Amino acid sequence: RDSKTEAYAFFSERMYENMLRHNRMEASIKKAFDNEEFKVYLQPRITLDDQRVHSAEALVRWDSPEYGMLLPGEIIPLLENRGSLEELDMYMLDHVCQILKKWIEADKAIRISFNVSRTYIFKPGFVQRVLQIIDHYGINHEYIEIEITESVIFDRSDALYSIVKELQDNGLYISMDDFGSGYSSLNMLKDIPINTIKLDQVFFKTDAINAQRAKAIISGILNLTHTLNIHSVAEGIENESDMKFLQRMGCDEIQGYYYSRPLSVSDFESYMDAFNKK
Ligand code: C2E
Ligand code: MG
Ligand code: MG
Ligand code: MG
Repeated sequence: RDSKTEAYAFFSERMYENMLRHNRMEASIKKAFDNEEFKVYLQPRITLDDQRVHSAEALVRWDSPEYGMLLPGEIIPLLENRGSLEELDMYMLDHVCQILKKWIEADKAIRISFNVSRTYIFKPGFVQRVLQIIDHYGINHEYIEIEITESVIFDRSDALYSIVKELQDNGLYISMDDFGSGYSSLNMLKDIPINTIKLDQVFFKTDAINAQRAKAIISGILNLTHTLNIHSVAEGIENESDMKFLQRMGCDEIQGYYYSRPLSVSDFESYMDAFNKK
């Protein structure tokens, strides 16, 4: 065998192993739902003007007995392949409602946002399904925020407009996730009456050369949110200087490792209690 064949054999063996792992994982998805192996992790969102945790984002983790703790980067493509992403989103909402119910009873509820996959939002019955789950638990709609990704809009702004309106008429908050990373942010702001934008992390992951330009863009976007009376959240904030900059620019909320990583529900509860006591 020449070296080329050997390299090829090695490569394909690795690919084969990855494929097997992938197939095994896919086969475990139903069991994962049945055994509730998918977990809601919560990342605090800190309001800058009073330095309190007023909301949290729900992010999925798969606590798998076979594969360990898996992140959305691995989970979502798997579920998408099997057409189970919608099931995950509603599973997450259901579990978010369970958390909220407990918090409301303990008189310490804050708003929780959850992510909805870009295709699901346009399916017939989406709004009814969401309301049905929330009302099943008797949760006040104000406690729920739906994060939709900017890339959903594309050429469907009429359809998105009606869905957003209907959700808002029912008292839910809508945020546009990863704002600024997609194609039509500004056009979307014109057409869709969202409550909140979440500034994409890319603006804060720049090298020194582009930092000034990134800052100019951020302050421009924040000015726009003030004029349009849209709530602003910055994501992926990892250091104090970015936090201070955003505070000066009048950004409403910060979410990022600077404050905390996404936490298990009980760790989040301790974090929130300690943080809000300060
Ligand atoms: P996202 O909705 O934009 O969520 C923010 C992501 O940024 C999270 O990654 C979070 O852990 C990460 N992050 C937060 N602060 C920092 C920081 O300071 N530095 C860095 N480097 N990262 C930070 P995660 O949990 O891996 O989720 C990735 C994406 O997967 C989410 O992005 C969201 O689009 C999607 N996702 C997560 N859970 C769900 C879900 O239940 N349903 C759906 N449809 N999508 C989900
Ligand atoms: Mg999100
Ligand atoms: Mg985001
Ligand atoms: Mg504002």
